[in-house]
Amino acid sequence: KNLISIRDLHLYYGKVEALKGVTMDFRKNEITAVIGPSGCGKSTLLKTINRLNDLVPDVTVTGTVKLNGKDIYAPSMNAVDLRKEVGMLFQQPNPFPFSIYDNVTYGLRISGEKDKAVLDEAVERSLQQAAIWDELKDRLHDNALSVSGGQQQRICIARVLATQPKVILMDEPTSALDPISSDKIERTMLKLKEDYTIVIVTRNMQQASRLSDRTAFFLGGKLIEYGKTK
Ligand code: ADP
Ligand code: ADP
Repeated sequence: KNLISIRDLHLYYGKVEALKGVTMDFRKNEITAVIGPSGCGKSTLLKTINRLNDLVPDVTVTGTVKLNGKDIYAPSMNAVDLRKEVGMLFQQPNPFPFSIYDNVTYGLRISGEKDKAVLDEAVERSLQQAAIWDELKDRLHDNALSVSGGQQQRICIARVLATQPKVILMDEPTSALDPISSDKIERTMLKLKEDYTIVIVTRNMQQASRLSDRTAFFLGGKLIEYGKTK
């Protein structure tokens, strides 16, 4: 089943056409790897699926992106709510400069959740899913910036998982990490695939073939090759 359907998507930054008619489908329990040279539109594609591009002035989007059959650019769709369903992870781990607990519960708290039992449960569940509960359970009130880069990226994964998204977008999530942290995060991703739809931008072809079910190759804003990963 297609959770995300993209049809004839074009995106312009002013007059620069960064995506030139992209049609793709992302299914549940699949990892799609998006690859291609620098500047080909990979990050732009991700930011069009969670509407982070709304924050950039002078962006024009045509075509459709549907999440569970609903047009994410419809006037009735709220971008903040959308981002709870479509989580995103960045290349540089970017925890907020406050406690691990407050990082993981951030999305729930901005939605108004105040019940400590609910927040506690979300922290344990999310850190478990991010495979870092055992390491951090006694440090939940330490500043998230006080742990290693690999641990920070896992805190960011837990922060995304806490709002129970359907889709996780990852923009080169391991390229700033050491090989051991990177390998651990790859194993976590394969586990997360059992419950989520994952799209990963990577410049590492071996990583794409290790992780992905489908590979999409972009060049100059166009999807030039798309199919099952061999
Ligand atoms: P990739 O992630 O594959 O490196 P990007 O999606 O970042 O590529 O960029 C695609 C194209 O869009 C590039 O030509 C880039 O210069 C341009 N671009 C990206 N972000 C902006 C922006 N905020 N304003 C103007 N042009 C942009
Ligand atoms: P890349 O190296 O592919 O460009 P980055 O990790 O630098 O990816 O992030 C891409 C862009 O998104 C940057 O402009 C960054 O400032 C912005 N960004 C990073 N984290 C967040 C966030 N949590 N919310 C909104 N924008 C973010």
